Amino acid sequence: MNTVLITGATSGIGEACSILFAKSGYNVVLNYAHHEEKAKHLEKKLIKDYNIDVLTIKADISDEEDVIKMVKLTIAKFHKIDVLVNNAGIALDDNLLYKTLIDFKKVIDVNLIGTFLVSKYVSKEMLKEKKGKIINVASTNGIDTYYPMSADYDAAKAGVISLTHNFSLELAPYITVNCVAPGWVDTPMNKDLEATFKKEETNKIFIKRFGTSVEIAEVILFLSTNDYINNEVVRVDGGLYHV
Ligand code: NAD
Repeated sequence: MNTVLITGATSGIGEACSILFAKSGYNVVLNYAHHEEKAKHLEKKLIKDYNIDVLTIKADISDEEDVIKMVKLTIAKFHKIDVLVNNAGIALDDNLLYKTLIDFKKVIDVNLIGTFLVSKYVSKEMLKEKKGKIINVASTNGIDTYYPMSADYDAAKAGVISLTHNFSLELAPYITVNCVAPGWVDTPMNKDLEATFKKEETNKIFIKRFGTSVEIAEVILFLSTNDYINNEVVRVDGGLYHV
């Protein structure tokens, strides 16, 4: 049976990935940082509904020791990792000129350094098997949007795209590394958006609505099953234009 490790697996896009991969017969490693009760509830649901094996691990992906422990625990239980979904992320939006160094660094630490650390330790295991798929979750914010309030997040996501290219070359020819770049998605990350801002942003989307977590998870699952898409950034944004 194949094993997938999903970071930030218990909410939004990560939760949708957990359910979709479980439905597709994967054993699932659920990484979470904060909500133990939610993680345990999801673990129970996946085992009951899909008859697969689940390992739930609390780890802060920006902490190297946590990441090393998470990978060790995963290998001890499942012996290999077939798919890694680097999904965990945070945004701490604020006026660009008032952003604190602490917040800016935190956003880079989780989104960029965390993706680097998990990719580094998981890919070493994948190389032993000469097989694996890594899918990073970046954002259209890392490509061509302008949101000074999230300049730190946007820089981190641009960095995730750069990591995708470099890991893809480094891990060839055995492991494919791709990236999805979602536009606006209805998840807990966007729960506090002001109604007027949300309306303005929705108007920029060709199909006039935010995406769903499942719509992003479907593309991630597809990228994990195809052997010839590599080093690619796939926008999943409903058609979005920018000013
Ligand atoms: P979300 O807040 O529901 O999910 C993020 C998850 O990451 C949470 O479960 C959170 O606990 C976890 N996390 C945060 N810090 C962590 C850490 N240090 N270690 C481990 N886990 C940690 O939001 P989401 O929208 O589902 O976000 C998933 C990914 O999609 C993120 O990388 C986000 O940047 C990206 N994304 C989201 C949107 C959107 O509009 N929602 C758009 C583009 C990209």
